[in-house]
Amino acid sequence: MAKRDYYETLGVGKTATDDELKKAYRRLAMKHHPDRNQGDESSQEHFKEAKEAYEILKNPQKRAAYDQFGHAGVSSSAGGPGGPGGFQGDVGDIFGDIFGDIFGGSGGRRRQARQRGSDLRFSLDLDLEEAVSGTDREIKVPTLGECKTCKGSGARDGHKQTCTTCGGVGQVRMQQGIFSVQQTCPACQGSGQQISNPCTDCGGQGRLRETRTLSVKIPAGVDNGDRIRLAGEGEAGANGAPAGDLYVEVQVRPHPIFERDGDDLYCEVPVCFTLAAMGGELEIPTLDGQVKLKVPVETQTGRMFRLKGKGVKSVRSHRTGDLMCRVVLETPIKLTREQKDLLRQFEATFTKDNSLHNPRSQSWLKGVREFFDRMTS
Ligand SMILES: [Zn+2]
Ligand SMILES: [Zn+2]
Repeated sequence: MAKRDYYETLGVGKTATDDELKKAYRRLAMKHHPDRNQGDESSQEHFKEAKEAYEILKNPQKRAAYDQFGHAGVSSSAGGPGGPGGFQGDVGDIFGDIFGDIFGGSGGRRRQARQRGSDLRFSLDLDLEEAVSGTDREIKVPTLGECKTCKGSGARDGHKQTCTTCGGVGQVRMQQGIFSVQQTCPACQGSGQQISNPCTDCGGQGRLRETRTLSVKIPAGVDNGDRIRLAGEGEAGANGAPAGDLYVEVQVRPHPIFERDGDDLYCEVPVCFTLAAMGGELEIPTLDGQVKLKVPVETQTGRMFRLKGKGVKSVRSHRTGDLMCRVVLETPIKLTREQKDLLRQFEATFTKDNSLHNPRSQSWLKGVREFFDRMTS
């Protein structure tokens, strides 16, 4: 059988540059590599042929001799080391270069670029009561789900072929100047497989947009920013790869009465000045019903009362916080003529010795006097 022309073997022109030769050889070598075509005689032949052609043409002297004299010009060296026949035990040089970082140290096993589906974050709005006591919620999550028709394979008949561009590796090398850069194979997007008969439902993607309805158990005591992980409920992976996770992030709506700080709750309680002066009882709302708060005689505005154990039970420590009630004295409005008269009479009793009944005014006035004294001295 007549020997094929070396340029023809590599599929390049006579004026091919070193780069073009290298690329052409890599493509063929990957396609016909014996590791990938076990028992395939014609592949072995093609592989030998390509290697021989490249060995000659990459060497400027041998290439010149071949150009001038054809196979006769290089026949003596063609049978030597590195020539045909030697490849079985000699898969070093360019193969280390091509397959090195793909195969890594794993003994030549093909690693397919199978990327897990993306994780998703879902923001869940809760009332404070729901966050405190826990709840079960149904959520609708827009996501990418596995195509049921092709079971995520993307192929209508469930059948896939090895990608011809990358030979199933999922990666190709591109020459950029003196660097060779490894890239995800553009033909198969790294899967190493091609579909000749794509699934019509998902267009060969194996995934479909869908809105998934899930029920989420919210544990008692969660707070703003807490996340609940639902394993495997994220986006389906491409090419049948595993799905990502779904993170449900809690957002607690502002409450009309309570403000939460850690496990403690805070609230403001408006109190009429008469009750604050004479003391009495107040009804205080808590998350589990009303409780009575004893307001002592002469309670000043801003005073804080702590109701032990009326806060939030922590989802982590299971310790229960307190409810902090801040008393705010309220100025009465829309007074009747009679009420105003009474207040005037009341006020009149103060004029003799103001300091006795208004401790804060007293200390405030003292501060003002000291302030002016410093200014004028
Ligand atoms: Zn499909
Ligand atoms: Zn490919």
